Amino acid sequence: MKVTRIAYSERLNPGKYAALAEQARRLGRVRSEVWQRYGSIAGVGSGLTDRQVRDRWLADGTHIQFGVLANAWKETVRDAMADIAANLASAKVEIRRAITRRTNDPVGRKRMFTALKANQWASEPFLALQMRKHWKRGKSRTHDQIVVRADQHNTVADARGRLWLAVPGLQRRKMVRIPLSTTVAPTGTLRLILRGGRVEVHHQIDASRMRSSQRPCGQRTVGVDKGYTEALTDSDGGHHGSRLGALLTSESDRLKERNRRRAKLRSIANNAALRGNHAKAHRIMVNNLGTVKRDRRAARHRALVRTEIFTAVHRVVDKAATVVAEDLTKSFAGRKTLGRNVNRRLAAWTKGVTAEALTNVSERRGSALVRVNAAYTSQTCHRCGRLGRRSGDRFHCTPCGVVWQADVNAAINILQRAGDPDIALHTPYRVVKQILQDRTDRHRTRLPVQDSSPAIAGRRANHPNRSPMSN
Ligand SMILES: [Zn+2]
Repeated sequence: MKVTRIAYSERLNPGKYAALAEQARRLGRVRSEVWQRYGSIAGVGSGLTDRQVRDRWLADGTHIQFGVLANAWKETVRDAMADIAANLASAKVEIRRAITRRTNDPVGRKRMFTALKANQWASEPFLALQMRKHWKRGKSRTHDQIVVRADQHNTVADARGRLWLAVPGLQRRKMVRIPLSTTVAPTGTLRLILRGGRVEVHHQIDASRMRSSQRPCGQRTVGVDKGYTEALTDSDGGHHGSRLGALLTSESDRLKERNRRRAKLRSIANNAALRGNHAKAHRIMVNNLGTVKRDRRAARHRALVRTEIFTAVHRVVDKAATVVAEDLTKSFAGRKTLGRNVNRRLAAWTKGVTAEALTNVSERRGSALVRVNAAYTSQTCHRCGRLGRRSGDRFHCTPCGVVWQADVNAAINILQRAGDPDIALHTPYRVVKQILQDRTDRHRTRLPVQDSSPAIAGRRANHPNRSPMSN
């Protein structure tokens, strides 16, 4: 398993930066072309491999217009085709869910799953419809990246021990040398991202080389509930990643204040431009509305949150061989629908990081991750199974007469879902509610309890007044 590491350029000559930025801009056109032709359901050649695309372009001369070296556009084609494949794969996840919701007939399901897997959605009207809905026409607006093949770059240390990374430029045999702020040479395929006068060198290292991957996992089965005050609460009542809430709140407050100030400055600049004072408008845009500091600060905040969440997951895996969690990959609201609402954007992004951390850490440390259907786990009492009332961080169960800590109650419910015979991962929300109600109704209508195991008998003895079989 691989993890991404980032090295940064240090005091890079502006001329070199401009040359790299120009190369990235031209490669952005390569990306757009790939998406335009192969990135949608109607794409002329969907189903092609990146090698086939390269051969076609070489044959018909598509590549000449871009004005970049051969290796550069070829790597970009490969990268863009991989993005398209990832895009298609995530659309398929949504469609598999839609198929499960649509039919209970195993034969029909199987037929549609098979057609979907083989990319033969045209023959199934339902699949074709779903493909159009979920595989929207893709576009690439990436114009600040250069992908460099592993054998196309090299690193040397100068007399003072500083590393210089040499990558191909726009001219043959003229490498661009980038001074790095790290002492560890990036290896493998590199992704250079040009941002605010600085080059980010993204590269991957083998996760088994990381020290945290050597830590063994625990031995128990633990349920976790994700939260925003704490990253995770486990079914033992443990809280992990307790600084998350403070980090998110302070960032959200800061962003709101900053956006307010920037809007004000922007309106001053616009008014100045309307009055013909273009020099003033330009000054404000350059000096007060720049993006370099803003973007770096955002990156620092993201790094802090990621560390907090990953540390939380490590704490859970310290004691767990199996982690049971909500399926966090489900139903992300798109970037567009979130609009400018800072809190919701941060929350959606945090959820993605938690999902990534759970998968990543489990895989590296050898614990199993079990994803369960979390419908109503925060609204149900884990002891009696009835729906209760959540207020803030408390959960009130009137029949039990008990107040639970809401997130611990949810974590225990999630743990119990792993062994639930009736509620599967994709069981629809309303069906889950029905199942939960049927279970508690059985008590209310005094039907005989099938199971007479000692556990249940014991529970009845503890609560004689509430037992349907007492008296
Ligand atoms: Zn209860």
